[in-house]
Amino acid sequence: MAKYTRLTGTQDILPEEQRYWEHFRQTVAQVALDYGFDRIDLPIFEMTELFARGVGENTDIVEKEMYSFQDKGDRDITLRPEFTAGVVRAYIENGLHVQPKPVKLYSIGPAFRYERPQAGRYRQLHQYNAEIIGESGPMADLEIMLMAWDIYARLDFQGLAFQLNATGCPACRPTYIETLAAHYRARQDALCDDCLRRLEQNPLRLLDCKREACQGHIAAAPKITAHLCAECDAHFAELRGFLDDLGRPYTLNHTLVRGLDYYTKTVFEVWAEGIGAQSAVCGGGRYDGLIELIGGPATPAVGFAAGIERAVLVMKEQDVEVPALPTPPVYIAYLGDACRQYAVRLLVHLREAGLGAQIAMGGSLRSQLRHANKRDARFALIIGEDEMAADVVMVRDLHAGDQETVAQDALIATLRSRLDA
Ligand SMILES: [Zn+2]
Ligand SMILES: [Zn+2]
Repeated sequence: MAKYTRLTGTQDILPEEQRYWEHFRQTVAQVALDYGFDRIDLPIFEMTELFARGVGENTDIVEKEMYSFQDKGDRDITLRPEFTAGVVRAYIENGLHVQPKPVKLYSIGPAFRYERPQAGRYRQLHQYNAEIIGESGPMADLEIMLMAWDIYARLDFQGLAFQLNATGCPACRPTYIETLAAHYRARQDALCDDCLRRLEQNPLRLLDCKREACQGHIAAAPKITAHLCAECDAHFAELRGFLDDLGRPYTLNHTLVRGLDYYTKTVFEVWAEGIGAQSAVCGGGRYDGLIELIGGPATPAVGFAAGIERAVLVMKEQDVEVPALPTPPVYIAYLGDACRQYAVRLLVHLREAGLGAQIAMGGSLRSQLRHANKRDARFALIIGEDEMAADVVMVRDLHAGDQETVAQDALIATLRSRLDA
């Protein structure tokens, strides 16, 4: 038993797992590049106030899940529970709003939530997100949705489909929320404790209740799509028009409100076949009020975010083809201490020429070659006293299974031409 163990909700991502993570990160980076998104990296901690305001006081995240503390200077600090608030803070603080709009940004890294311990839930989790800032029209919503879709399509996820809803705007949402609250007030006696609380604090989230007993109230609830103002209605219709035209499947889901307070107009998720039933792999929406809310100029924006842990799990379960991580092609083996110095000089020579190489640290030639195979080297270079004396190297091609004796001064050219072949 180890004396120190990792904390609940954290994980070690071991070398054998890394190819899945790397493949995922590379796919996100490639799609972002193809779509014209610029990468931004942000601090993992910010002022607590930023998240309280930017994520919303009445969300589960702010109420229950934040890692908040005071630092040695008595500042209230929180480890980021999500990315969007930080992106918006950086957008305002760095004056990115003077850039030609829209500004398209993506980010990837760890986030922190104090989740109840359970399988597949992490307190240090990993996310990526993408945001389009400064464009109010539905083409930006479409672009974000297409990007989200494309990432999972390129990862070979099966059964992709959108879930789609509208959440209104400050002109139409208050009236809808009144109507929704009235519907629930009439059933007050039959509601769960969470729903009673939501009814007072955040009625939109009544539609989020997962309890069996509340599903009837949700099904009978008034739908926001029937209460949109003309602008929201036209926006939603235009977005659906694009999706129809492209033949991208979507399901209108009036219970989709997402956990965050800041969404306006569009909210969506991408669903895929995962482990078991089809479920959400990512989600997002429009947040036209957020930038102004945290002190910037009134600016429309739309974005999405997703966790990486679950995607990696799905990739493994569904045997998604993931390329092996590259390894250095050359492994230098040698016979005994007499050849060691010569071997080290050769190692440095190869590396200076730009060839990836590693060297045995000792042991019998047999165990060195076993190690070369295990490290998936393409070539084992074998040096004995005869080779040293003749200024040659034995090159064994571990993939082709042949070997040849190569003069020192022809070595790099020989290795390169075999690698290129
Ligand atoms: Zn509206
Ligand atoms: Zn409920």
